[in-house]
Amino acid sequence: MPPATPGIPTIVRGRKMLSISWTRVYGADEYEVYYAMSLFGAPFFAGKTAGLSYIINGLDSNTIYHIQIKAINSGGASALSPIAKGKPQVNFCGKCGTEPRLGALGCHKCGKQV
Ligand SMILES: [Zn+2]
Repeated sequence: MPPATPGIPTIVRGRKMLSISWTRVYGADEYEVYYAMSLFGAPFFAGKTAGLSYIINGLDSNTIYHIQIKAINSGGASALSPIAKGKPQVNFCGKCGTEPRLGALGCHKCGKQV
């Protein structure tokens, strides 16, 4: 029997990359990560892992990616999880060059207001 469908993944934005993590699904041996460039676009396979996180590198900073995962075991694959949307970071602090943290008011390192 395939594992249950995973919950919506969590995305942390980085420079030209997205770090994706999720909650363990009972009975899953590994997880496959998919991304699409639009809500109804065909999902592309990004990679798989036995862990609970995955980083997709080399992404376009101007694109909103739609991320889904599947849980896999010897019985097959679950359905795709709900979609989490993420856009890679492009804006760096003009004073210290630090990547901004999502939702932060101003630079989290030097305090410069944006
Ligand atoms: Zn700064």
